[in-house]
Parts: sequence; C-alpha cells; structure tokens
Amino acid sequence: MSAFQDARTLPRDTVLAPDLAIIGGGPAGISLALAMADSGQNVLMLESGAASFAPETQKLYQGEESGVRYIALDGGRLRFLGGSTNHWGGWCRPLDEIDFESRDVLPHSGWPFARSEIEPYFARAQALVEAGPWIYDEAGTTVSDKGPTLRLGQGGVYTTWFQFSKTLGGVLPTHFGDRYRDDLKRAPRLTPLLNANITGIRLSHDAKRVERLDVATLSGNRLTVKPRCTVLAAGAIENARLLLASNDVMKAGVGNGNDLVGRFFADHPIPRNVATLVVFDGKLAPFYSNSQAVAEGAVMRAALSPTQDFMRRQGLAGSLTTVENPVKLDALGTAAVVTTAQALGVDASSARAFSLGCGMEMAPDPERRITLGGERDALDMPLSNLHMTISDRDFAHFRQTLAEMGRQLLAARTGMLHLTYKQRHEWMEGLDWGNHHLGTTRMSADPKRGVVDADSKVHGIANLYVAGSSVFPTYGSSNPTMNLVALTLRLADRLKKVLT
Ligand SMILES: Cc1cc2nc3c(=O)[nH]c(=O)nc-3n(C[C@H](O)[C@H](O)[C@H](O)COP(=O)(O)OP(=O)(O)OC[C@H]3O[C@@H](n4cnc5c(N)ncnc54)[C@H](O)[C@@H]3O)c2cc1C
Repeated sequence: MSAFQDARTLPRDTVLAPDLAIIGGGPAGISLALAMADSGQNVLMLESGAASFAPETQKLYQGEESGVRYIALDGGRLRFLGGSTNHWGGWCRPLDEIDFESRDVLPHSGWPFARSEIEPYFARAQALVEAGPWIYDEAGTTVSDKGPTLRLGQGGVYTTWFQFSKTLGGVLPTHFGDRYRDDLKRAPRLTPLLNANITGIRLSHDAKRVERLDVATLSGNRLTVKPRCTVLAAGAIENARLLLASNDVMKAGVGNGNDLVGRFFADHPIPRNVATLVVFDGKLAPFYSNSQAVAEGAVMRAALSPTQDFMRRQGLAGSLTTVENPVKLDALGTAAVVTTAQALGVDASSARAFSLGCGMEMAPDPERRITLGGERDALDMPLSNLHMTISDRDFAHFRQTLAEMGRQLLAARTGMLHLTYKQRHEWMEGLDWGNHHLGTTRMSADPKRGVVDADSKVHGIANLYVAGSSVFPTYGSSNPTMNLVALTLRLADRLKKVLT
C-alpha cells in the first residue's frame, strides 16, 4: 500500500523513476491511476494541488483572454486533488454516434474511430462517476408512472436524458479526490504526489522521447521525474500550456511540429432564455424542469435534442435544450396562445409557459486557441492566453432545431414556442458557458490534423500520451466527463500492453 506523498517534503533534487508518470489528479488522472493498479507497474500521479483548495495554487491557473467574453481562466477549473470535479454539476450523457463522424457541415470534424470503440468502457466510466445504472434513453419507458414525456409530432427533435452523478437525496456530485482517496492509497505500486507542479516536459535531443519531467513546488523545492512513459492529464488548457511552454528542444513546443497544440479549443455555450415554451394543458412532467430520481437509483433529467438523422439531413450541430423556469406571459403572449389554441381546437385555459436554455455544440475552429501569454506565474511558467470565438452559424444551427421543435409541438397540438433571439448580440447577452474545456490536443490518425493519434499518443513522441477532453476532435453536445473517463480507461488498456 502506498501513502500520499508531498513534493514539498522530499529532499531537493530527488529523482523519481516510475514506469508511468501521470500529470494531474483530476477525474482523468485518478481514473487512469486506479485502472493501472493491477498492471504491476510503478505509477506516480503528480498533482499540483493538495487535498483541498489553496488560493496560491489556484492562482497558477490565472490566464489572459481575448475575443468573445469567457469565464476567467482561474474561475472555470480547480487546481487540487479531484480537479474540477470539486465543483462540477454531475450532468452525464454519452456522446452520440454522429459526434464521431466527419461531417461536411463541420469542417475539421470527426474522430479516427467510431463510438463503438469507447462503448466497452462506458459501464466502468459510469460506475466511476457514480451516475447510477446505464439507462439514459431507455429511461423514457421507465418513467411513465411519473408523468408522460412531452408529446411531439413526428420530426427531428426528441426527448433524451441526462443522468446525474450521485445527486440522489441532495448529495453533491462525486468529487473524485474525496471519493477515491482511499482507493488511491490502497492501490499497490501507486504513489500520489501532492503539491507537485510539472513545469517542463523535457525531450531527448532527437525529440523522439520524453526524458524527464521538471517538478516545482511553491515552497521552492525542485524534483526530477524520469518515467518510462508519461500521460498528460492536466485539463485541456493546462495540457496545451505545458506542451507549448516546454520548447527547449522542439521550438514551437512538444508535439507542436504542425502548429496544432492549443488550437480548436471549445466549450459548450449555454444561452439562457432562448425560447418560451407554452404547454396548452399546463402539465409538464417534472423531470423536464428538475432532476428526479426516476428508476433504480438513477437521477435523471429530460432534455430535447435533434435526432441524429435530422442532424445529418439538415447539416446541423448538436444541442441539448432544457426547460428552465416558469414564465409569466404578458397580455400579447396570452392572446397569441389563446388564438393558436383556438385555431388548433384545444383547450388552453390551464396553459403554462417556461423558459428554455441549452447546451450547444460548437463547430471546431482553429483560431479558438490557447497560446502562451506575456506574463508569468509564481513558478515562472508563461500564463495561458485564450482567444475565444463563437460563430453566427453555431447559433443558426440551434435556431433551426428550435424551429423544428416548435413545428412538432404544434403538429401534436401540445403547445407552442416563441423563439427569443435572432441577432448575434441578443444570443451573446444571455450566454453562459459549461466550463467544459475541449479540444486543444485533438486526436487524428494524421499528424497534420491532430496532436495525438488514435491511441492518444502524441504523434512522433514514443512515450507521451494525453488523457482528457483536450483530445476530443469534435465535441458533441453531451457533457464531457463520463466520456473522457471512458476514453481514459481505454488508454489504460493500451498502456498496460506498452509497458509490459
Ligand atoms: C463549474 C463546473 C461545472 C461542471 N459541470 C460538469 C457537468 O455537469 N458534467 C460534466 O461532464 N462536466 C462538467 N464540468 C467539467 C468537468 O469538471 C471536467 O470535464 C473534468 O473535471 C475534466 O477532467 P480532467 O481530469 O481532464 O481535468 P481537471 O478536472 O481539470 O483536472 C486536472 C488536474 O490536473 C492538475 N494540474 C493542472 N496543472 C498541473 C501541473 N502543471 N502539474 C501537476 N498537476 C496539474 C490540477 O490540479 C487538476 O487536479 C464542469 C466544470 C466546472 C468548472
């Protein structure tokens, strides 16, 4: 059994030589460390933070920004054991098959494999995020006792389901650091090292291998790690920063021979109040507006999504629309509802209205990127600089889905939709973000199109891999964490073969 160690208390210039070094102790790093426990290899998990929040460590996440308004870089992630699961929402949903496809409408889209490649890992990933039994879209058949799903006419939008990480009974979603601390301690041959900041990934002279990792603590200690194999699992912004800043051998940064590291950053934009939904008979099953314990301990929430077939036919990106708050209609709105209901021959005397929100998929954009900023942090690392973009087409895709939803509501005589925004500035005003950092070390079999290959290995470097949603080349609209854990478990299987 290995105990946690603290990099501040190891003798200065200690050299550690594990078989596998994992940079980062968030859900990707922790899932990988646990999955490697039966590998017989010595694993060192290096985590920048301690077991709880420390402001001076969090400051290392500060960064610079340009482009459209985004969340401060030290606000949308947490730098201690468990990473951003220390404040995540716990929303889970698997990526769809279409998310892996190359689509003409989304230039640069497509994974080097189909969804079937990560499906074998979904059950274990679902268990690690503690989101209950895998029922997702089968849920529609198990919830009928709690109220019917929204009746929609035939068309391109359907009711789909989120599952939640352990929210049953009001308990918070799973914080990976707290939840798996004892498992990490128990894992044979695993050493989690806290307060250990990687500040450099040093390559051999021919740039073909990682030779060593530089480790620094805020207290001034310095260590060296010489692993046989390294996995970068520090989150999408930090993964890019570390690769770019390690530029002593490869001048543009590690793995950046084709100027791709840091590019294609994405998140899920969450525009609020995108439309008003009116339900004529006033009844809306509770799981549309709240998460509910629906079956077998699964906590679920319904959302509205374009079908994959509709997305393919219409050339649309994905979106997950949720019902948010009750809305009071003004006189004009009420008159519109009464008139429409009369025309359809339905009783709208108990009609109710709700605002809708959404998590949208963004089109990949090479200009939405992380570069190195001019300022430096307390460990003398250049800060990240994020240039954020969002295109009008991203909004147009979603508006088309909302229009289809409105058509289907009318066709089924269930209700009606009023779409709120047309102009870019209207969308921008109501915009939140998911804090889902994606895409800075994208995956492709072709080194000219991706930083990592289909095995998550950095192209051209024999012993460096990347875990986490930074490798997602296309993002889908589903929340990333359960999916990135599945992909990490797949990586563990690859590493077990490579290391033996
Ligand atoms: C407010 C909020 C709500 C969210 N809600 C959801 C949700 O509902 N559903 C969902 O799927 N996702 C959600 N997310 C996203 C989710 O938290 C991330 O997808 C997930 O945490 C990413 O895991 P990771 O291990 O790749 O990276 P992280 O969680 O970022 O972990 C990276 C780890 O690496 C460490 N590290 C960083 N730099 C270094 C370094 N130089 N050296 C050593 N260690 C380092 C960090 O301290 C951290 O522990 C949310 C995020 C936020 C912020």
